[in-house]
Amino acid sequence: MSVRPILRLGHPVLRERAQPVAEAAFGSAWLGQLVEDLTDTMRDADGLGIAAPQIGESWRVAVLEVPAGNPRYPDAPAYPFGVYVNPEIEVLDPTLQSYWEGCLSVPGLRGRVERPRRVRVRYRDADGNRHELEAEGFPATVFQHEFDHLDGMLYVDRLADTRAFAFLDEFSRFHGPARQDG
Ligand code: ZN
Repeated sequence: MSVRPILRLGHPVLRERAQPVAEAAFGSAWLGQLVEDLTDTMRDADGLGIAAPQIGESWRVAVLEVPAGNPRYPDAPAYPFGVYVNPEIEVLDPTLQSYWEGCLSVPGLRGRVERPRRVRVRYRDADGNRHELEAEGFPATVFQHEFDHLDGMLYVDRLADTRAFAFLDEFSRFHGPARQDG
């Protein structure tokens, strides 16, 4: 179990474009350890996902997992654990959907962000096997949020309306559930 410190907004690594994992690194102990650290850190922080730059590793690697009843997003539908190396994302339906997003690197805040509602993701696993999936609704937003981290983007760069940006306590009091369509 290796829970790593999470970099916060203002750390320059969060603003870098992360490097792709090289062919020779697939299946390596180094990549396995990076994935394990990401997984432990995400679960320790009750995150729905985490990208390697958030623990100071500027590589194109992210993990995602939405357990049912996550305390930070109690209304989010469950989504299975996955490891996404060198992911590429393609918009399948550009219709915008909006959710209140949070980020482990921007603790204590929530903001409403609009993103395309349906995407295709092509990615490698830690052994280098190629996979493809489609996601729509909330998971599509989570994928876009996590992969933005690999390009140095944070959700605060995409706020639909700066008036829909709140501390978590105030969000809970005044803006209802942890996610909100429309
Ligand atoms: Zn984030």
